[in-house]
Amino acid sequence: MASKETPMMKQYNEIKSQYSDCILFFRLGDFYEMFGDDAVIGAEILDITLTARTKSEDAIPMAGVPYHSAESYIAKLTSKGKKVAIAEQVSDPSEPGIVKREVVRVVTPGTNLSAIALEQKANQYVGSIACNEEGYAICFADVSTGELIVGTGSLEDVRALVETYQPKELIAAESLAESPKLYEIGLMVSSFDMPVDKSYLLKHFGTSSLGAFGLEDELKTEAVGLNLMYLDAMLQTSLANMTQVVHLNQADSFDLDPATIYNLELFYTIRDFDCKNSLIAVIDKTVTAGGGRLLKRWLIRPLKSLNLLQKRLAHVDYFYNKDLKLLRSLLSETYDLERLISRLSLGYGNPRDLIQVKQTLSALPAIIVELNSELRADLPDMSGIVGLIDEAVVDEPPISKRDGGIFKDGYHAEADEYRTLLRTGKDFIAKHKADLVEQTGIDKLKIGYNKVFGYYIEVSKAKIDLVPETFIRKQTLTNSERYITPELKEYEEKVLNASGLLNGLEESLFDELVTRILGFSEQLRIVAKSLAYIDVCSGLAELAKKNNYTKPELHEGIELRIMDGRHSVLEQILEKGAFVPNNSSFDLDTMIKLITGPNMGGKSTYLRQTALIVLLAQIGSYVPARSAKIGLVDQIYSRVGASDNLAKGQSTFMVEMEETAYILRQASEKSLLILDEIGRGTSTYDGVSLAWSILEHIHNNLGARTLFATHYHELIEVVDGLDRAQNFSVAVEEDPNGKAVLLHQIRAGAVSKSYGVHVAEKAGLPNSIIQRAESLLTELESSHQLEPRKHQSLSPQPSLFATDQKAEQVRSMIEGIDVNNLTPMQALQKLNEIKADLNGS
Ligand code: ATP
Repeated sequence: MASKETPMMKQYNEIKSQYSDCILFFRLGDFYEMFGDDAVIGAEILDITLTARTKSEDAIPMAGVPYHSAESYIAKLTSKGKKVAIAEQVSDPSEPGIVKREVVRVVTPGTNLSAIALEQKANQYVGSIACNEEGYAICFADVSTGELIVGTGSLEDVRALVETYQPKELIAAESLAESPKLYEIGLMVSSFDMPVDKSYLLKHFGTSSLGAFGLEDELKTEAVGLNLMYLDAMLQTSLANMTQVVHLNQADSFDLDPATIYNLELFYTIRDFDCKNSLIAVIDKTVTAGGGRLLKRWLIRPLKSLNLLQKRLAHVDYFYNKDLKLLRSLLSETYDLERLISRLSLGYGNPRDLIQVKQTLSALPAIIVELNSELRADLPDMSGIVGLIDEAVVDEPPISKRDGGIFKDGYHAEADEYRTLLRTGKDFIAKHKADLVEQTGIDKLKIGYNKVFGYYIEVSKAKIDLVPETFIRKQTLTNSERYITPELKEYEEKVLNASGLLNGLEESLFDELVTRILGFSEQLRIVAKSLAYIDVCSGLAELAKKNNYTKPELHEGIELRIMDGRHSVLEQILEKGAFVPNNSSFDLDTMIKLITGPNMGGKSTYLRQTALIVLLAQIGSYVPARSAKIGLVDQIYSRVGASDNLAKGQSTFMVEMEETAYILRQASEKSLLILDEIGRGTSTYDGVSLAWSILEHIHNNLGARTLFATHYHELIEVVDGLDRAQNFSVAVEEDPNGKAVLLHQIRAGAVSKSYGVHVAEKAGLPNSIIQRAESLLTELESSHQLEPRKHQSLSPQPSLFATDQKAEQVRSMIEGIDVNNLTPMQALQKLNEIKADLNGS
């Protein structure tokens, strides 16, 4: 078998053995060919024909794609999680012997730089994990934008960050990648085994210490180093665009955890995992890709620094008070500068990228007119680069730097010379043809060109008698003959040489021009950042105007006072005016609000809208409310009881309790807790007892602002006994027939009935069932069968001991009275309070 192997297949097999985890694209002329299993898999994914190299039985399967449209095929493969190794011809095909081929880059799901593969408003991260005895570090690198993010924590933190940042691929050193620990918590990690060398990083950042990048920490250094080395190995280029490191867990911002992102439906709805009807779908009014990506990053990393927030809010405010039409249209005509600079820095740029850079920078003067002095300061003068590109590059250059036709006349003398030669070629042919017609008398003689023969003379069969001996016959067609002449050949050589030389020259001129432009990459990056920032701030202003949002008053205290707050998304879905606004307040006296009320009453909406208003305020946005005073929070935690997590293969109650435990461990008194039906995923007795003790813990130990929705009415009494907690409920009115009407209004106080049967009726349950349920309910209520049975391990029980608890409270109230310091009036008031309290029980 081996003896049958052709030299080319031998070369193929050698390369393939080094890239066994990739689909190998093997350059053969104008095609990339895949062989063997790669061809079978590739043909299936790409929906192309599977052929074979020979007709014999043991023929090797083969499938190919044209090289000029390879990017779209590669994108299809990487989107399916495949890696593609590109083997190019690296020696001159005209030289004797087999053409040398080498892998010049590997395209993976996280390193595909082609515009076809990149989602405009999303980052494309590669995640790298490192660990030692102290813990874990994770780094996210987006080579298409130049971002590097790094953080440390437990393995659970790493998993949470992976869920939040959604990297396209994850890598780690072999020993870690293959440890079952990662697999067990659902992390699929590929191994990339290269010892991280600090000197690599020093060389990369071009410094003598890593301190300026916050990389003194060995773990972080390893995660960042591994990622850069991986990108380097895949793209085989210096990563000149990765020059800054962002650290997670900074003092001025906080990272939302994935469960909160999920529960608040920031990017997808829970029900159908669709972006439509998510928060981002409503609030994203950005018109640039960079702006879209920035807004997403703001949402997952809100600010907690009052200073920074006030600065952002002031910018949104500036745009709010301005006509935005011109600015928005100018912004929408700019290109993705962040990604353009990255592509150019990595050596993957093309001539059209330069035109896009020019057009984007040309818009700056008009954009600057629309800005205030502070925002203008962040936009450096880039007219130099605009001039540089404008004087060099034609307005519609080709997509490849190798095809020539990039530069304008007058830019480079030698290029001009070649071009003149090529242009005068047309005149030469016309003149030569006229001469030949005159010499031979063949009036219909034609001069044409094709790739096989080059220039030729075509004479119809009727006139061949007139053909002179100097013509050399090359091809016979049905009605004509084609000839060449030494003179025509000589001309052809000159022209072809000129065209080859011109293309080569233009390619090196292009590289030179890119290097000159990249001399300004720092300023270009600043412009890219500023444009994204201006886009997000003006987008938020547009949102505020369009959806009638209000400017929040921010402060560092505890007080939170939202008047007529609304849910950003639901108010858009419902008919105009159908959404019922609600107030939401916390202060030192009310830290916990327990919300009870019937199903479908609007509890979840109310909880989420409060969290979303705080979140919007803490990204610097206006908020959907009549007025909002926001005491900044240091974290928002949102949990919904009994939410499914089948992907993790855990019972829903387990997940619910794990998540609650996580919150109670992490939250501080400055956090905002949104707990919706916690304790729902288990039996009533367990559930109510857990909910009760969690509530008490938050009240007594944590002191965080908390909205707690529950259908356990037993908790109403618990809250009555807690001095910084209050009962609220969804207002329900009964119509003349005694049917419940849900008003979607949250009011102070508790409701006495749960209206479950009414809700079931509204949901369309058959009448017979409703009637039977109503009679059962009446029976059960009158016979007290609903009271919870005694439970050995829990003491005291809610409801059952409510009266004793009340008595205990009254007793301690009386004990707390200092009779010697009480006026008769105060004594009467106290008595009144005690009486009111007892009546309420
Ligand atoms: P459950 O306990 O069954 O989860 P819930 O009390 O949490 O119910 P939500 O899911 O918040 O209720 O709301 C149910 C429906 O009520 C929503 O889909 C919406 O159509 C309507 N609704 C909720 N709040 C409002 C409001 N403020 N204004 C108008 N309609 C509302």
